[in-house]
Amino acid sequence: MRRLVLALVAAAALAGPPAAPAIEGQLRTVLIPVTWGPQPLTDAQVRGLADGAASFLHTASFGRLTVVTDTTPWLHAFDAPPTCTNIRSIRDAAGAAASATGIDLPGYNRRVYLLPYDVASCQLLGTFALTVGRDILVVGRFRAETIAHELGHSFGLGHARRELCTSTCTLDEYGDPRDAMANAAGDFNPLEKSLAGWLPAPTPLAEAGDFVVDQFEVPSTLPQALVVSTAAGEYWIDHREPLGNDAALTGPAVDGIEVRLRAEPVLSAALTLTPSTLVSDRQDRTAGVVLPGASFVAPGAFQLDVLDHVDTHVGIRFRWLDRTAPRQVQIARPRATRGIVHLSWRASPDSGSGVFRYEVSLDGRRTGSTSAKALDVTTRTGPHVVAIVAVDRAGNRSRSASRRFIVG
Ligand SMILES: [Zn+2]
Repeated sequence: MRRLVLALVAAAALAGPPAAPAIEGQLRTVLIPVTWGPQPLTDAQVRGLADGAASFLHTASFGRLTVVTDTTPWLHAFDAPPTCTNIRSIRDAAGAAASATGIDLPGYNRRVYLLPYDVASCQLLGTFALTVGRDILVVGRFRAETIAHELGHSFGLGHARRELCTSTCTLDEYGDPRDAMANAAGDFNPLEKSLAGWLPAPTPLAEAGDFVVDQFEVPSTLPQALVVSTAAGEYWIDHREPLGNDAALTGPAVDGIEVRLRAEPVLSAALTLTPSTLVSDRQDRTAGVVLPGASFVAPGAFQLDVLDHVDTHVGIRFRWLDRTAPRQVQIARPRATRGIVHLSWRASPDSGSGVFRYEVSLDGRRTGSTSAKALDVTTRTGPHVVAIVAVDRAGNRSRSASRRFIVG
């Protein structure tokens, strides 16, 4: 009998999508204060904002990103307060005022417009900032971490959200109490640094065991993020230390771990942003941190026991809690063309750890496994039987599904 020849179509799917190019090198940025009259910042304060944001991003990126910022004096761009949320008209007025003074705004990688907040004309309650593509508008919110936050959006970073649960759960879009991609001043978290291409690949937790996670504020040779993949998505685990952009942090925040769930990307103002959701300590007893001696449980999926905090790293014990087998798959009618048999199947969504792979057998012989829901094989003419078992990440196996077919 001829050997069965197998073509694995799923190799690319197992490797994951290609990483986006890193945000690194020099980013030429200009800060442009624009006004109809009031000038609430001195030139030195504008320079201080530019330097503060550049310093934050240089540290957050482990020195890979250098924001080179020019600043302009206040430009008189309006006769009266403009519509404070209309970034396009503000950009156009600022561009006209800038080119009249010989500044080439289109030549910059990022443009940051600083606009005084005018309570009488601005319909929004309070200062704010927003980013559209490569243009950033800061209205009254003149803080270095705000500019770093908006530049973070321009790199594809979403908000550092937080889920708080009592009897029900609510999602706070800006709820992370430490992260600059929320309303705080602390360092970008490891998922954000990974999205920007600054952090080495995180350590996946797939088998039960003990692990360490080091701080992520400064470079390290130890793992700086751990990731558990489940049916609900990727859980990212990190530990903050009072170093780098987190130098001012104190208390329980720097003694345990944070756990956050990577969210689906959202489209916003010409940008694709990936948010994250802090889910550790849902009841908020310890400011969203799981301390040594405590555990984080993703019900029906996995448990993390926080063992200790030594030097700048935290010890963690990981195990799966998922004891539920995936549902049996439904195999579609195989289609044969030019000697290649196209196998495909439908699977019920799995909860808990989530399906990791499908094991495919042909005529009682294991022919391969794939994370996709399809596989091409070549085989001889005649009758055959295909059988498929779904296996979840915790090792639970579904009942085998089988289907007979004939290659003519
Ligand atoms: Zn934002």
